[in-house]
Amino acid sequence: KESTARENNVAKIKVVVRKRPLNRKELSRKEEDIITVHDSSFLTVYEPKLKVDLTAYVEKHEFCFDAVLDEHVSNDEVYRETVEPIIPIIFQRTKATCFAYGQTGSGKTYTMQPLPLRAAQDMVRLLHQPVYRNQNFKLWLSYFEIYGGKLFDLLSDRRQLLMREDGKKQVCIVGLQEFEVSDVQIVKEYIERGNAARSTGSTGANEESSRSHAILQLAVKKHIIVKDTRRQRDRDANEAKNTKAVGKISFIDLAGSERGADTTDNDRQTRIEGAEINKSLLALKECIRALDNDQIHIPFRGSKLTEVLRDSFVGNSRTVMISCISPNAGSCEHTLNTLRYADRVK
Ligand code: ADP
Ligand code: MG
Repeated sequence: KESTARENNVAKIKVVVRKRPLNRKELSRKEEDIITVHDSSFLTVYEPKLKVDLTAYVEKHEFCFDAVLDEHVSNDEVYRETVEPIIPIIFQRTKATCFAYGQTGSGKTYTMQPLPLRAAQDMVRLLHQPVYRNQNFKLWLSYFEIYGGKLFDLLSDRRQLLMREDGKKQVCIVGLQEFEVSDVQIVKEYIERGNAARSTGSTGANEESSRSHAILQLAVKKHIIVKDTRRQRDRDANEAKNTKAVGKISFIDLAGSERGADTTDNDRQTRIEGAEINKSLLALKECIRALDNDQIHIPFRGSKLTEVLRDSFVGNSRTVMISCISPNAGSCEHTLNTLRYADRVK
């Protein structure tokens, strides 16, 4: 009873918007900041427009979200607003997902990078709390990427992974390497290793990584102690069989939302990737909306991304969407698209 009450304190779906500051390039071009954050949940976009006779005017767009974080908010405050409240319920059989959505350059990676490390810090601390100390809980980490509709393990030389559904309709990613992480330093090393393995291609790091979804998962598992020595040998042979999933949190640095529009590009590969990204971002929105409406049928099948996340959306789940926006006038159209997407998710 008591734990249910506690879980209910954390909203099932939370939509947060984060505005980044103008960068040096935008400042040197004297670009205008067209976004005003009024309070912690309300913002206005001042869209510069031209009339037919070319006189300039401004169209105002107002939006309200669960939280709006302005350019002065630190990553630490972002953590406290988004992920921190969820951590305790991961230990109570909750599956959580935290997304960063937005155009390339809007601050998704800047926002997402520190979150898993902070979360791991709190999770490791919880593992050692008296309530959990004797439960034999352990923390596991995996990190993979969805690129052009294919899965790649970022912690095992970009090995391509396949998905399979088991008898219990649980999605499993065949061969995905999971590592037990007992302290934060190890978590940091895995994250850095995974980051280095993200798709970079020939055109440069940000360019290519903007076409992929990066998914880092921290799972709490209960280890079943096997007394029988014969079974102990089995245990060594197949560690996975002797663990039971407790809860999990996934951190997802989504592909740049503008990439979903690359469906008419001259380059065939770019077009295919664009179509896949478009499909996955639409499917994601549909799934979150279905969750929010407590629908029985969640349209997971819509894309690889949502299929992968299927087990995180069923049962007791929490979703946090961080929509990242650029403040400059030149990004206005993308910013409005991002805010409208976030609006529809809610
Ligand atoms: P994305 O992952 O969405 O393409 P990045 O996270 O790479 O965008 O951010 C683009 C640039 O803006 C980076 O140089 C990053 O350091 C900077 N940046 C993003 N958000 C902030 C912020 N809130 N404060 C300061 N700099 C930021
Ligand atoms: Mg990025």
